[in-house]
Amino acid sequence: CGIIGCAGRGDETLDVLLDGLEGLEYRGYDSAGVALSNGSLSVCKREGEIRRLQQAVTGDLVGPVGIGHTRWSTHGPPSDANAHPHTDCAGDVAVVHNGIVENYADLRAELADRGHDFDSDTDTEVVPHLIEEELADGATFEEAFRAAVARLEGSYALAAVSSGSEAILATRHDSPLVVGVGDDAAYIASDVPAFLDYTDRVVYLEDGEFARLESGSWTVSDADGRLLDKSVSRVEWDA
Ligand code: GLU
Repeated sequence: CGIIGCAGRGDETLDVLLDGLEGLEYRGYDSAGVALSNGSLSVCKREGEIRRLQQAVTGDLVGPVGIGHTRWSTHGPPSDANAHPHTDCAGDVAVVHNGIVENYADLRAELADRGHDFDSDTDTEVVPHLIEEELADGATFEEAFRAAVARLEGSYALAAVSSGSEAILATRHDSPLVVGVGDDAAYIASDVPAFLDYTDRVVYLEDGEFARLESGSWTVSDADGRLLDKSVSRVEWDA
């Protein structure tokens, strides 16, 4: 139900993600989780209140980029396993998702036929496995993300991190997603309150656009990979 990501906050990444999740609480949720990338991925997720996640986080959740999620379950009951982020078999890709992947049953059957094991009941979990297959075929993280997204039907705001990359990749279709532009950091969220403590400069993504966040920098491109000249606006928000 809510997404937050940040790139460029160094050792503060986990704190920024947890604060961001609190900023999204008003949307309602049944579970929460985070994933940080630092050459390898660390994931922590819990059913229930963000407080339970805060109590569960450990010292290995460090890295220059990370993503977080509050879940309002549509496919699979609230549980630790069904909480986001979801990962691939090898644990090299982590994905958070708002919305519904309508064709997940077909994709899951196809992936299971090719040997993928699933840890959750969610529609979302097909996405990291699709990315994993593309990476195994030699694609870059961004090529793999785009190829996986091209297979999806339904509504989605998605953000992903990978152990082999210091980028956050994100895209949307029928679900909101906004980039936050800080001085030395970039943010991605389903809604502005997630990062409003850090910046009031925003770039609204349109359906079919892709954002790429790296430490302190961001780009937005169209479905064909062409860079877009997006305007940065200042939000006025009464918190
Ligand atoms: N459909 C996904 C799930 O059930 C995402 C739900 C959401 O938007 O939080 O896990």
